[in-house]
This record gives sequence, C-alpha cells and structure tokens, in this order.
Amino acid sequence: MQTAPSSSSVVTGLQPLPEREHLMGRSLVVSIHDVSTVTRPLVERMLADLESEGVPVTSLLVIPDHHHRGRIDQDPDFTAWLASCVARGHEPVLHGFHHLRPQMPGEGMMTRLMTRFYTAGEGEFYDLSFAEASRLLRLGKGALTACGISSSGFIAPAWLLGWEAQRAVKEEGFEYTTLIGSMLDCREGGQFFSRSLVYSVRAPWRRALSPLWNKILFRRLKRSPLMRLGLHPPDWEHPAIRSHILSLIRSAIVERRVTTYRDWLDLWRTSVHEGALPC
Ligand SMILES: [Zn+2]
Repeated sequence: MQTAPSSSSVVTGLQPLPEREHLMGRSLVVSIHDVSTVTRPLVERMLADLESEGVPVTSLLVIPDHHHRGRIDQDPDFTAWLASCVARGHEPVLHGFHHLRPQMPGEGMMTRLMTRFYTAGEGEFYDLSFAEASRLLRLGKGALTACGISSSGFIAPAWLLGWEAQRAVKEEGFEYTTLIGSMLDCREGGQFFSRSLVYSVRAPWRRALSPLWNKILFRRLKRSPLMRLGLHPPDWEHPAIRSHILSLIRSAIVERRVTTYRDWLDLWRTSVHEGALPC
C-alpha cells in the first residue's frame, strides 16, 4: 500500500492555496465499483486507460459473489489478478456481498423509488437488520481473506447504507465508509462532505444528462481538498461517456494528486489532528 505524504510534502498545484487547504493539498480518488468475476474484462480495460491518463492507483470496490454468479475466492485467476492489482497500489474495498436486494412485500413508495428506480434492485445494504448486515460483512471479509487481501473500507452498493447496517460496519472494524455525499471515518467519527461524481448509463436520457451534471459538479468541487470520481464498468461500454470521464480526469490531475480512499483517510486524520480541518 502507498503511504500518505506528510503534509509538508503535499503538492498543491499551480495556484497558491489558503493555509488550511495548503496543509491537505487537493486529491482525486477514482473508485471503480462492482469489481467481480463478472466484470473483470471491462475493469482491466478501465485500469489500462486510467493508467495511461495518469491514474496509477484506484480504490477497487469488490463484490465477493456478484449476483450469485461466481465467488471471487473460488476463481484462482481472479484471485491472482486482484492480488496483482493490490501489489501495484490499488486499494481493495468490500462492496456488498451479492450486490442484490430481494424485493419484500408491503414496500412503501419511497423504498420502491430508492431500491428499484434509483438502483435497479441492487441496494443490498439499504434496509438490512444489524444481524444480517453483520453476517454479510463477515462473509465478505472472509472472501477477501481467502484471496490473501484485506479491506479497510466498506462501501455499500449504490451508497445505500441503512442505519443498522452502518452500525454493523463500525462494529466489524472497518475504518471508513462512503456515501454519495460524504466520507465517514468509522473509527474517529468524522464526516467529510464531498459529493461523488458518478455517471448513469442505464437509459439514453441518463447518458445525455450525466456529462452535464458531472461538469457542473466538477466546477463546484474545484477547491475541495477531495474530489471523488465513482466509475462503473458499463461506463466503458459507451464511448462518449468514457471520453468525458477521461477528459475530466485530465483536468483534475493538473492540480490534484491521485490517491486511494485509504490513503486519503490518513491524510484527513493527520490534518484533523494538526487542526487544519474540523472533525
Ligand atoms: Zn455497486
């Protein structure tokens, strides 16, 4: 794993920054969601493209048994490939277990909206009990351990993490989680607000709006110490979306260092302890 730079060595880019920002610098975390035995070919293409654009490390959000279609720890090729990614500095992050939420009888309008329209039925940790969330988290940690790796973070599918499941994430010893609008330090209790850029490609209208929305968000985050870019394998099946993502990355890395969530967490904690950021 990479080590976070000391605050004095942070590269702050072309413009002088106010003292608070200077201590943290500006970072870009690119995460690839839904890394699994099912998506590996696309993820390999994404990693190659990202590396050629100056993104050598990412946070890889790994699903242990994607839609029940193949466990990572029972696929030796996948296990070896994932271990090689981690050896190159990519961060493994547990991302659900099956990435599926079964529909339940008597669901209200809001639940149906969030779990079917927003996520197409993939919000696995949206409304789990504490016991069931804990069980799946332990299974997930076991699958990663069987691959010879471990994860400091847990990120729920579609960032939908109910209160009971969030409690389970802390109890299971994860250091952090992220929601769409923030990063949570599970050990020290801080919350850092930074909305993730993310594209939606499920329908033509979503593909038309996503570049516009992300461009606006990119501008809004211009001065934030942390810019998050969440990618999904289907993004790479749409050349216009892929090009837009790569062009945003080219703009971002002019004045941001590329890091992982785990390494940024260390930087954040250091900055809080030095009084540069409120917890
Ligand atoms: Zn996902």
